[in-house]
Amino acid sequence: MKLNAYFNDIKESYLFAEVGARSAAYAKAHPDKKVLKLGIGDVTLPLAPAVIEALHGAVDEMSESATFKGYGPYEGYEFLRESIKNYYVTYGVKVGLDEIFVSDGAKSDLGNILDIFAKDNTILVPDPVYPVYVDTNLMAGRKVIYACANAQNGFLPMPDYSVKADIIYICSPNNPTGAAYSPAQLKEWVAYANKLGAVILYDAAYECFITDNDTARSIFQIEGARTCAIEFCSFSKIAGFTGTRCGYTVIPHELEKDSLNANKMWLRRQATKFNGVPYIVQKGAAAVFTEEGQKQIKENIAYYRRNAKLIADCMDRLGIWYTGGKNSPYIWLKCPNGMGSWEFFDYLLENAQVVGTPGAGFGQNGEGYFRLTAFGSQEVTQEAVSRIENLLKK
Ligand code: PLP
Repeated sequence: MKLNAYFNDIKESYLFAEVGARSAAYAKAHPDKKVLKLGIGDVTLPLAPAVIEALHGAVDEMSESATFKGYGPYEGYEFLRESIKNYYVTYGVKVGLDEIFVSDGAKSDLGNILDIFAKDNTILVPDPVYPVYVDTNLMAGRKVIYACANAQNGFLPMPDYSVKADIIYICSPNNPTGAAYSPAQLKEWVAYANKLGAVILYDAAYECFITDNDTARSIFQIEGARTCAIEFCSFSKIAGFTGTRCGYTVIPHELEKDSLNANKMWLRRQATKFNGVPYIVQKGAAAVFTEEGQKQIKENIAYYRRNAKLIADCMDRLGIWYTGGKNSPYIWLKCPNGMGSWEFFDYLLENAQVVGTPGAGFGQNGEGYFRLTAFGSQEVTQEAVSRIENLLKK
């Protein structure tokens, strides 16, 4: 027996462990101080009442033989795919029912999709990056190259035709930087991918945070994307499903190469390795798209948006450069006075008892930057912001 030696190429994921260890050590040494956390990427508000009601209803259905459900369709129940299809229509995108695949979340699909791609593809990811894109490819022995995201390009790298990539990851609005591409910028990526015969794996997990019309909600709003893109979406941030687990992936029929069809391959892959998302969960997810559900989840998103604005306004008053905050729950700021990411982490923890996430943990280009998130409670966010302001305005 041999184990997969490519696992040696993956860096130990120490970022959140190290953040946790340093915060815990500080709290232990200073039991009188209250440490406030603006580092988490998880939601804190409970599921919307409409979702809870649908979940209860589905549980009851499971208790009667007339309504009991066993294995469901690999690609998800039609009632949910129909709702997703209609949701796309609200921002002008037409996708077919059989182009939508329901899953247990974007993270699984982002990793699993690699089953349909050959091993010798070159992978282009931005730096800094959501680590899943890198690690899933390194595990399979693929070559990963980086597109530099930095202050000069507003942390939105654009295509470089001297770079030959086969699989391109784009996350917009971005984790960790909060930066989001305009349709004009995505048009350039679509043109590049179509010219090279590459595919864009488009992570739209934070699409619900987009508030303006200058930012794309879906890669499929861009002409030409149907021949070069797959889109990954999640109920995690739009409706607080981080623990409930549901997402969906859209693969257009036009995505083909050498007489192989990506949509058909993915259905085949799911049929082989996946037995679907629980009926109960899919019922809960469908409730997100009802009139009542939409009203309720929008209130929750508005709550996080107000937190993001509190943080962004504070950065504006302090004159600190940042991206995100507007179409995103993340604020990605330049550490003041030329501090390094971890240096600023310690400084903020020791002097304001506020915890964030050091940008260096997301890639080389993250050094000197820091991520704050809007997923905390309003009280904690408000208190953390005033502590940061008092400390940094000195
Ligand atoms: N994509 C990005 C960019 C994320 O930040 C996250 C979660 O934090 C995910 C995907 C995972 O989404 P899900 O909870 O649907 O697996």
